[in-house]
Amino acid sequence: MEVQQIEEEIELALKHISRLENRLKNIQKNCNHQFKYHPNFNKCKKCHKVEVFYY
Ligand SMILES: [Zn+2]
Repeated sequence: MEVQQIEEEIELALKHISRLENRLKNIQKNCNHQFKYHPNFNKCKKCHKVEVFYY
């Protein structure tokens, strides 16, 4: 595989990840969270959003 082809594939993969992250953020933004309690954080059962406790 040539370097340029590898770079193009990396670029495509990064764009793909970026789209997925945006979709996930959107889902988490619109989620009616149901948090499950953990010792140091809450995690939503539905969208997996994590809320860390800061003291
Ligand atoms: Zn949620």
